Amino acid sequence: MIILACAALTLAALLYVFWLIPEPVRVKSPAEREREYLEDKRTVLYDNLRDLHLEFRMGKLSDHDYQQMKARYQEELALLLHQLESVAESAGLPTEALAKVGRCPRCSKDNPPDNRFCGACGAPLRSPEGTP
Ligand SMILES: [Zn+2]
Repeated sequence: MIILACAALTLAALLYVFWLIPEPVRVKSPAEREREYLEDKRTVLYDNLRDLHLEFRMGKLSDHDYQQMKARYQEELALLLHQLESVAESAGLPTEALAKVGRCPRCSKDNPPDNRFCGACGAPLRSPEGTP
């Protein structure tokens, strides 16, 4: 009798853990997926800009090449940020989070506005003036 009770309890616990805990998978709207895609692209662009800056500082790039490539990345980034905003606006998603100064583009942690790098992952943050 005790064994039966234990077995029933174990079974109930297992059912609870494996059936009740997982939340129903939320289907993402096309706008949300689009936004995630654009946010990934934004992260890549920020990484590229950082790498470019690093290579310039190490003397691997001439000043001319650096300025040229930086301008291209920044142009791309500006376009991307604009796209992100319009996607968020048309879908009714909050837009203030996108423009928020101090929000890490990589891990989305909020940092103090005067931080130049993310306190959590070390990624460069968007400074109010534009370039670091
Ligand atoms: Zn971060």
